[in-house]
Amino acid sequence: MSDFVRVSESGTHRRLDFLKSKILSLTSDVINSGEYISGTRVVALEKYLSSRWGRDSVTTNSGNSALQLALLAAGVKPGDEVIVPALTYMSTAYAVSAVGAIPCFVDIDPRTFTIDLQAVRNAIQEKTVAIIAVHLYGQMVEMQPLMELAAESGLKVIEDVAHAQGAKYKNNYAGCIGDFGCFAMCLGKNLGGLEDGGFVTASTSEDALQLQSLRDPGKIPLNKYIHQEFGFRAKMGEFTAAIISLELEFLEDWNRRRQEIAARYNAAFASLPFQTPTAIDECDRTFYKYVILVDSPQERLALENRLEGLGIPTENGCSRLIPEEPVYALGLPCRVDRLDVAKSLVGRLLNLPIYPELDDREVDAVITAMHQAYKKALVVN
Ligand SMILES: *Cc1c(COP(=O)(O)O)cnc(C)c1O
Repeated sequence: MSDFVRVSESGTHRRLDFLKSKILSLTSDVINSGEYISGTRVVALEKYLSSRWGRDSVTTNSGNSALQLALLAAGVKPGDEVIVPALTYMSTAYAVSAVGAIPCFVDIDPRTFTIDLQAVRNAIQEKTVAIIAVHLYGQMVEMQPLMELAAESGLKVIEDVAHAQGAKYKNNYAGCIGDFGCFAMCLGKNLGGLEDGGFVTASTSEDALQLQSLRDPGKIPLNKYIHQEFGFRAKMGEFTAAIISLELEFLEDWNRRRQEIAARYNAAFASLPFQTPTAIDECDRTFYKYVILVDSPQERLALENRLEGLGIPTENGCSRLIPEEPVYALGLPCRVDRLDVAKSLVGRLLNLPIYPELDDREVDAVITAMHQAYKKALVVN
């Protein structure tokens, strides 16, 4: 058993090991500076993000608050409806509920696993004011037709970029195509500090000013004594800004390594009987997850167990759709459209390890284990 390789579930502790000495020294810098929230480091980070992403960027204390602020800045009011894919993370829907609006859950495209444009079109009603496009697992939504549809229908588009920092579609960064782009930066994401963090890119400077006011909490910019509108306490801390700034130097390399691993998996798994999301044209993906779709929930469980036994931990990709979570199923206001495709995926998605810190030996171990797991039938009928 000398060549048994146990792959760890996530790479975050290795990311921290890699950054640890730098983080320790910047911790003492922050403490000595006397600025702890939204000081010099946050200002510098926002300037950098604005130039790198080419849009005014406003930092926040989480991805969830980035979405809430964007919804408010987009003019979403209590009782309005916002179209959201049924397959996403809770924060996407919670942000809509948090501003008093109603998420309308729609189906996903069976090829890409991202929001289905025809479903969006069918779901638009009088109260619909916005769409949240979630670039799931780092695969982008086909933004051009979505933007056309939104323009036709007078809807705002908010991109949820929690899985896609650095992804590009037709040479445009994810988060810079819709009216707002909302990024999440906690440790589990492709880019993230020790605490929660986020930022919003705005398509106009007026929107950026409004976002700044909304996070602080509702103050008129430059006048800290007047609160003009309802807002949130959602500013980023200096410590987080310092860590994010540090990680931004590595984001491109890290994303490239994820793509490299995904390409190896794609090639090695071509003969195995499962599906992966089809790449859309002209999209540079960031592979936050490497997800596979197997035939049945029983097969996923059997595969998960077999891989675990072979030293490869995996993650159940979807045990429940968002509208099926008790919080929505038992009463939080929402509208649920037809979800035939999304429902058919429940229990059948499995996320394989993919993070930049995986070395080639570990990638080989995942590939070997997958082939071994599929040698015997996974489920005997
Ligand atoms: C992580 C995540 C968010 C943001 O959530 P936070 O918990 O605030 O970081 C939003 N949308 C998706 C799809 C996410 O995965």
